[in-house]
Amino acid sequence: IVRAVNVHKSFGRHRVLKGIDMAVAPSEVVCLIGPSGSGKTTFLRCINLLEDIDEGRIFVGDQLMGYEDRAGTLHTLDDAARARQRRPIGMVFQRFNLFPHMTAVQNIIEAPTQVLRTPRGQAVQEAHELLERVGLGDRGDAYPSQLSGGQQQRVAIARALAMHPQLMLFDEPTSALDPELVGEVLAVMRELAEEGMTMIVVTHEMTFARDVADHVVFMDAGVVVEQGSPDQVINHPGQERTQQFLSRMV
Ligand code: ATP
Repeated sequence: IVRAVNVHKSFGRHRVLKGIDMAVAPSEVVCLIGPSGSGKTTFLRCINLLEDIDEGRIFVGDQLMGYEDRAGTLHTLDDAARARQRRPIGMVFQRFNLFPHMTAVQNIIEAPTQVLRTPRGQAVQEAHELLERVGLGDRGDAYPSQLSGGQQQRVAIARALAMHPQLMLFDEPTSALDPELVGEVLAVMRELAEEGMTMIVVTHEMTFARDVADHVVFMDAGVVVEQGSPDQVINHPGQERTQQFLSRMV
């Protein structure tokens, strides 16, 4: 469902992605690991068109992200067309980014009612079902400030799911949380994975990666150093840089 080919991205003279290749099959969970600054977040943002790539191609489903093919010639897309391409992709950020002046339910129904034109009543019902699914069935009327970080992140997951995404991107979803709140968010993600959601997860949670990922990608300094099954990459890394990184993680 996702195919990245030779993706390059620089910020000014700083080359952040130096030829990333990656493929994600339907229902697959890919965990992206690597040191801070290795380009993991930037890569996720490129998939979602939050950043433009300098070189290479990213396909999500049958879409070539950022471009359309008109009579055999590629044209860059305007903002509205980019928003349409982004629609099947849900993203969950490190900071939960909920609208602070809206309740949990209002946060969740915002995009479906505005973008998909889902009738409000139906959107509200779906929001309650999604809150139930993330273990917050009774907190629909709560504002973000009345929820713990873990609860806010679970609302953020429900909000992304409300758009019926084909692909979910998670950017270190637990790294801003107090340690005792990490488990409840990982449990929701684990359940999503078991239900067959296709997911790319940037994470420092090696236990999660080991247990849930189908495929682990280790990135360092803008390149994929090593990728394979969790057992290969985490338990038996072949590259010295991967070994060093993992030995610092424990
Ligand atoms: P972390 O785990 O800290 O999030 P990461 O692997 O996700 O690290 P990125 O956030 O992708 O790494 O950042 C890679 C590099 O790109 C960093 O050196 C960062 O400072 C730089 N960078 C990211 N976004 C921008 C930007 N908008 N403008 C300039 N430099 C940026």
